[in-house]
Amino acid sequence: MPNWIQGKITETKQWCTDLHSIKITTEAMPFKAGQFAMVGLDIDDELIHRPYSLVNTPQESALEIHFNRVAEGSLTPSLAQLQVGDSIHVGDRINGLLTLDQVPDVPHLWLMATGTGIGPFISILNTAEPWQRFEKIVLCYSVKTVEGLAYRAEFEALQKQYPEQFCFVPFVTREQSTDTIQSRITHYLESGELEAHVGLTLSAESSHLMLCGNAKMLNDVSEYLATRGFQRHSRREPGQIAIEKYY
Ligand SMILES: Cc1cc2nc3c(=O)[nH]c(=O)nc-3n(C[C@H](O)[C@H](O)[C@H](O)COP(=O)(O)OP(=O)(O)OC[C@H]3O[C@@H](n4cnc5c(N)ncnc54)[C@H](O)[C@@H]3O)c2cc1C
Repeated sequence: MPNWIQGKITETKQWCTDLHSIKITTEAMPFKAGQFAMVGLDIDDELIHRPYSLVNTPQESALEIHFNRVAEGSLTPSLAQLQVGDSIHVGDRINGLLTLDQVPDVPHLWLMATGTGIGPFISILNTAEPWQRFEKIVLCYSVKTVEGLAYRAEFEALQKQYPEQFCFVPFVTREQSTDTIQSRITHYLESGELEAHVGLTLSAESSHLMLCGNAKMLNDVSEYLATRGFQRHSRREPGQIAIEKYY
């Protein structure tokens, strides 16, 4: 259990129904892009806390988290109601292994996120390191509806800045729209369409994947890639797939 320090809400943003981001100022804490903090609120005399990936880079002083309001959830309905100036508890230790220092030196970095699982990748992509280390970075970002593509403008700006190095692939599963793919990441990957779309072959020798979001996407992608020789990466057993499971 961390020690709790006090934070103040400095900014709130509602992207669409049930999709929010908040910025929190608190005392400076060192962390690596891709890590998560514990965040809590006093609800009915109890401190309810959950982990949230930090969207901001380590160089930015305000912490930013991006979350779904889970209707029956214990914490997120209250998080979604926070206003500028409100207090919030933040754990004093920031953790997590979905970070670039865990990624071996390979030419191709593939990032795959469902929903709010995009958080760690925003932080990572807004640092200099990935652009210095990888020849090609592919970001697959899957949501249900177009308005749920939070932070899309940031990725489109990166696409303009790094047209050869970066490939942003937005997926919208429940709506048709221009410039997005109406499919699940797993289906598009298994059918070979993803590699054709990106113009790059996924190979265990040249690629490393970072996956974040719901368990179904993480399991399905990992199981499929196992058939192509990929395995989960850990400190003890090096592999090609790093995973952060939200739920
Ligand atoms: C390392 C780590 C980092 C995380 N980072 C984030 C983050 O950056 N943003 C974020 O939104 N969540 C994140 N989560 C999930 C988060 O910690 C909470 O579980 C989530 O916000 C629900 O909290 P709650 O108290 O409202 O719901 P609870 O009362 O805990 O109910 C949990 C139920 O909500 C559902 N659920 C959990 N997470 C989500 C979600 N993201 N979207 C839809 N349904 C969900 C699941 O079905 C689960 O059974 C992270 C989880 C982990 C383990």
